[in-house]
Amino acid sequence: MKAFYSFLTVALTILFLPSCSDTQKPQEAAFSKEKTLKISDSLRKEKLSTETEALRPNFKPFGPILKGDWITTHGSDKGQSFEEYKKSNPNRPNLTKNKIYILQIGTFTESQEKILTDTMKYMEACFGVSVKKLSTFPLNKIPLTARRRHREWLHEQLNAKYIINDILYPNRPDDALALIAFTSKDLYPGEGWNFVFGLASLTKRIGVWSIFRNGDPSDSQAHYMTCLRRTISTAIHETGHILGIKHCLAYECVMCGSNSREESDRRGLSYCPQCMEKLTWNTDIPVRKHLEKLFKVSRQLGLIAESKFFANCLAKTADKSSEK
Ligand SMILES: [Zn+2]
Ligand SMILES: [Zn+2]
Repeated sequence: MKAFYSFLTVALTILFLPSCSDTQKPQEAAFSKEKTLKISDSLRKEKLSTETEALRPNFKPFGPILKGDWITTHGSDKGQSFEEYKKSNPNRPNLTKNKIYILQIGTFTESQEKILTDTMKYMEACFGVSVKKLSTFPLNKIPLTARRRHREWLHEQLNAKYIINDILYPNRPDDALALIAFTSKDLYPGEGWNFVFGLASLTKRIGVWSIFRNGDPSDSQAHYMTCLRRTISTAIHETGHILGIKHCLAYECVMCGSNSREESDRRGLSYCPQCMEKLTWNTDIPVRKHLEKLFKVSRQLGLIAESKFFANCLAKTADKSSEK
């Protein structure tokens, strides 16, 4: 489904990082598959630390590029090397800014609450900082001017820009590395849009994401796990952006841009070696420690494929250490 039908992208791109949804207007810059794959190749040649180098065979190089993928509508995307990342002076945790806060907007069902709690555990493991819930923000505090009923779908939607500017920014705690709001309602960023999965402001270190389109976790255990994977994927992708990590072009990675659920569902819940180098440098967590935490939390949350994947990554890095 293509949701975009108006002209707001430019203003939103300047002010915000729109979430990687299918609401993006194709940019002017022409997409070239050949050029993109060349950029991807050269990004993978960057020398990384011994442990992240050892992980390369566990990740699939970027591609194949399918019709409608994010990169086909954002042809000017150049990716980001580790060196470029370090030079960008990204937002990092420090003594005074060391918590990720979660704000729930409106009500959640019991299983949606559990999705959020499980996502917070994964975020804690991934970013190595404590993730805390603030008091729920009630829907009735959101004025009618910041809500609407979609004219075709008829369900209620909340204005994501209002949430960013009028709810999150004024209420961001001083020690917040990031403030992330979740809502079970659908979101729109302004008239002319059908919906967005979410919206973030990197400079303000805040973002809002909806779990409305992640499936009903109470349907079955399989639906629960799908909803959990999608919610974690959005949470760690967007928090990665708040930490200054740009869209990945090196590997099929959780930091790749995505135009649709189908596209983001193709990728796992791990940062690739290059993005992991950035993240572990940013958070100052050794690579093996990062992998251990993700292995443990995946096992705890019943993410079987992911726990096997991280166990394999741990084995790869251990092999590498013993070779030295
Ligand atoms: Zn993104
Ligand atoms: Zn990556």
